[in-house]
Amino acid sequence: MEALLHAWLVRGYFAAAVVTAAALTLVPAPYGRHARAGWGPTVGSTLGWVLMESPAALGMALWYALGRRDVAGTVFLAAWMAHYLHRAFVYPLRRRAGERPMPLAIALLGAGFNAFNSYVNGRWLFTLGPPRDPPWLASPAFVGGAAVFVAGLALNLHSDELLLRLRAPGERGYKVPEGGAFRWVSCPNYLGEIVLWVGFAGMTASPAAWAFAAYTAANLAPRARAHHRWYRDTFPDYPRARRALVPFVW
Ligand code: NDP
Repeated sequence: MEALLHAWLVRGYFAAAVVTAAALTLVPAPYGRHARAGWGPTVGSTLGWVLMESPAALGMALWYALGRRDVAGTVFLAAWMAHYLHRAFVYPLRRRAGERPMPLAIALLGAGFNAFNSYVNGRWLFTLGPPRDPPWLASPAFVGGAAVFVAGLALNLHSDELLLRLRAPGERGYKVPEGGAFRWVSCPNYLGEIVLWVGFAGMTASPAAWAFAAYTAANLAPRARAHHRWYRDTFPDYPRARRALVPFVW
């Protein structure tokens, strides 16, 4: 029964990606530089980010504890946690004083999404999907996916680090980011995020992980477009050759 429900949730997840991409192309999510009044009560963005991202880490730990706890599953959990322990509990504390309040609605929506996402992914990886024997960890799918995952994670972390260093303590404004993959695109941190979840989907061969990768792209590609336009409108000398998200292409 749960397997059937789960299969429908994954189908719905793919459909939601399409709707989300359309909605966020019309209206950028109202946080960071795209924050606007009229989205209800706000919360400090440090607290907002912890609130938003911690269900991803805590939820996955729960589904693992309730599942098979085999070798391959433990490796999948470690990869997930390599991203989310940082995202939920380190990254929010490192954001510079330029942080601005975020709508509580966004933090709660994000928390709900992450709770759902950890359920869909964790249940498939640790309980509902086929058990992966240790030889899976030497398969081309796993090795190739893991390489893509690590490359995406490194790009995401490095690019976020360059952004965080743009502001001195107490500074609030925006500057033109330079260095790393900013040479080619305005949002290499988003590109890294998309690549890492594509890698995760490859290494787990999980339909739920593919849905998450699609949803991540649906969420971040429109935001990269909005950031890119904002940079071009705000900085007259913004590098003309720089693309939004995909080097040399878009
Ligand atoms: P942004 O790139 O908009 O901002 C990242 C941080 O850098 C913020 O603190 C921002 O400040 C600051 N910053 C950005 N650009 C500049 C600049 N030009 N000058 C000075 N400071 C700057 O990323 P998000 O906040 O949207 O996302 C943060 C991380 O979370 C990213 O790694 C992203 O990939 C990930 N994420 C993942 C999602 C998913 O679907 N899996 C969804 C959303 C985010 P300020 O907040 O003041 O703008």
